[in-house]
Amino acid sequence: MAALRSRDAPAYDVMRVRGDFPILGTRMNGRPLVYLDTAASAQKPRVVIETLKRFYEEDYANIHRGVYDLSQRATSAHDEARRKVQRFLNAADWREIVFTRNATEAINLVAASFARGRLEPGDEILVTEMEHHANIVPWQLVAAETGARIVPAPITDAGELILESFIERIGPRTKMIGVVWVSNVLGTVNPVHELVRIAHGRGVPILIDAAQAVQHIPVDVQALDADFLVFSGHKLYGPSGVGVLHAKAKHLEAMPPYQGGGDMIETVSFKGSTWNEIPFKFEAGTPDIAGIVALGAAIDYVEGLGLDAIAAHEAEMLAYATRAINQVPGVRVIGTAPEKCSVLTFAMDGVHPQDIATMLDLDGIAVRTGHHCAMPLHERFGLAASARASIGLYTTQEDIDAFVRSLHRVAEMFR
Ligand code: PLP
Repeated sequence: MAALRSRDAPAYDVMRVRGDFPILGTRMNGRPLVYLDTAASAQKPRVVIETLKRFYEEDYANIHRGVYDLSQRATSAHDEARRKVQRFLNAADWREIVFTRNATEAINLVAASFARGRLEPGDEILVTEMEHHANIVPWQLVAAETGARIVPAPITDAGELILESFIERIGPRTKMIGVVWVSNVLGTVNPVHELVRIAHGRGVPILIDAAQAVQHIPVDVQALDADFLVFSGHKLYGPSGVGVLHAKAKHLEAMPPYQGGGDMIETVSFKGSTWNEIPFKFEAGTPDIAGIVALGAAIDYVEGLGLDAIAAHEAEMLAYATRAINQVPGVRVIGTAPEKCSVLTFAMDGVHPQDIATMLDLDGIAVRTGHHCAMPLHERFGLAASARASIGLYTTQEDIDAFVRSLHRVAEMFR
């Protein structure tokens, strides 16, 4: 697994890296900010912020529409960002990269444009119990329209997918599979390469939700061979408002457009319209041009540090945090799979997660509480809500010490 291999990677100087993130030098509630909510959205390095600013100040115009120099510069910057995403994912072809608003929109696109036309009453879409709502609800929408149904594959108490049960649930009615690579609640790293092999062995297309993976694990979509892979730029240290769908070109060629409008057409007449080439067929209207360009800068930044080095640093922080949190009275960690990364979700006896987060906030510590857009998963663990600390490339032992100290105080107060 990449997560294991990466532990031997060369380290980087985390204090120097923190200097790249202006917000990490600020205060919250009068205390130095301890940001442990990177899984919800990562903070942005200066180079991403500067790229946005510089693009708007010097290169901004709408793309693909102008012969004037400025528009051509903007178009080149946008095209270059697509090629960076292609290289980042090791995609065979830049035409396989579709820009969306986020991972959620990318899954909706696949559900509506790819799956809907293949589904008949009684057909099945296989997911797992650990999916984010983004990888459940879009399938439910097309299932409701077509009479198909969602089948969840179960997980263990440790938060691991039960492989035999997953395989058992692939039957003649299974028309689509959607699986998260890294769970945003459990941190479980699913064996996606194996799952893709299994799905394809049964002739079923598979989508991998890599929203919590691309920032921690090197991705090679050609080696993975999934039909679809999605992620959000804002979790990869890029700006919010940009997501990515990687899809095999043969699928994109065959799929009908998802939305209609400018840019996605070849010709328009009142008798009917024809569609642009891929990927533009799926990119109706003006995109978040500056955001896409800045996503390119985020990819450069992450690659500059090295995903292996990031994974090694985060694995060390997660192990340190797990040891420390297990010393806090009444704490139960949710998600104890051996292949795990970046998130530490927990419940505390007799204390509502909301109270935990409110008290941590007073100490300048940002953690997330609630169902983390995974209500079925919480139901599986008999919880309505939980608290989650998540680790990024800039997390330090000092962050974790502050967090655990604060948690000890919460435990004492509610004892
Ligand atoms: N999938 C997973 C595993 C996630 O953690 C998230 C966001 O938290 C999403 C999908 C959806 O991401 P977005 O809200 O950026 O579309």
